[in-house]
Amino acid sequence: MLIKTILNSIEKFQSFVYGRSAFEVVASVKSLVIELSARKSTRGQCVQCGRRCPTYDTQAVRLYQYVPLWNIPVYFAYAPRRVSCKLHGIHVEPLPWAEGKERLTKSYQLFLATWAKRLSWRDTAKVFNASWDSVYRSIQWVVNYGLAHRAWDNVKQIGVDEIAVFKGHRYLTCVYQLDKGCRRLLWYGKDRTAKTLLRFFREFGKVRCAQLQFVCSDMWAAYLKVIKKKCVNALNVLDRFHIAKKFNEAVDEVRREEVRKFKADGEDNVLAQGRWLLLKKPTNLTQKQTSKLSELLKVNLMSVKAYLMKEDFQRFWSYKSPAWADKFLEDWATRTMQSNLVPMKKVAKMLRSHKTLILNWFKAKGELSSGPVEGLNNKAKLTIRKAYGFKTLNCLQIALYHQLGKLKEPPSTHRFC
Ligand SMILES: [Zn+2]
Repeated sequence: MLIKTILNSIEKFQSFVYGRSAFEVVASVKSLVIELSARKSTRGQCVQCGRRCPTYDTQAVRLYQYVPLWNIPVYFAYAPRRVSCKLHGIHVEPLPWAEGKERLTKSYQLFLATWAKRLSWRDTAKVFNASWDSVYRSIQWVVNYGLAHRAWDNVKQIGVDEIAVFKGHRYLTCVYQLDKGCRRLLWYGKDRTAKTLLRFFREFGKVRCAQLQFVCSDMWAAYLKVIKKKCVNALNVLDRFHIAKKFNEAVDEVRREEVRKFKADGEDNVLAQGRWLLLKKPTNLTQKQTSKLSELLKVNLMSVKAYLMKEDFQRFWSYKSPAWADKFLEDWATRTMQSNLVPMKKVAKMLRSHKTLILNWFKAKGELSSGPVEGLNNKAKLTIRKAYGFKTLNCLQIALYHQLGKLKEPPSTHRFC
């Protein structure tokens, strides 16, 4: 079977035909070069109005990289025409297989971008012998297409979250859609100020804001203020995931302080490697970790006390009625305030001051699950962790949309992967 036959069956162009294919050395690598030419009796299009216009001249042959075949680089070779449009002057004709001046074909770009969802960008480049920049440009093209064709209708539930980037020096505000069946990253903005979130709501529009039923968020005051102002019909819920985070931070603070004391007093550090035992959900511990934890809990330590307080609070989430949950929260806070653990007292104060929003969880019960925010947050963090090689914030943002945006892909006639 001829290469031409395969190409015609997967990617046929209306006004262009495949010609001869032969091995040639391109950039010191033996490659397969396939000639393309314009179908006889067709004229090139004007890039601006799309009208078929007379040819002004023909440029030198250019190579457009295509999806590799059996690890052999493949190129299309074509000499683009310059056409003369009465209205728009002389321009190079647009080509169906490549965008503008891009030397990578659309199929190859989509191919690289699809693999870059599964592999890191660097590995994608390595595996397919592409440059890092080719991978980056491919993803950027796919993401830009997706953003231009994105639909924001029927969004009923959103989550607002912040993530630290570049070793915590900077933050991104992420807005997720949390509706069942469509959980994705809707938007992100630099920083985590009120202005950042206001920018999202301005883009989102008044009508869509009014349709929102639930907004999940953490306790960041700037966010709470904006949500209250903009989402007048929605119930603002402080979600479990963010509250659990506060608890873990407090337990960890107690533990660190205690370890410091052990060191200062020259005592054995019984808490060595105890960090994960105290912070992980008990159900996520291995058998060995569980037995280690039960050993640890027998020791009279501040960290153990803090851990038990944290675990005790978990009962809060099993209440059905907001009134009983309220009572439990108050009792728990009172007990905690009588302890001498400052970080835990801080948590108690925080829970009390945000009680109304926390209790909204029970009003929304059944409608809202706490999983998605945590899941999306973890995915975003993973994307950032895999981000070695991302040189700028801009790269990182493209990566986040690419991984979490569920964006529409450019149309193609064949799926390569
Ligand atoms: Zn024109």
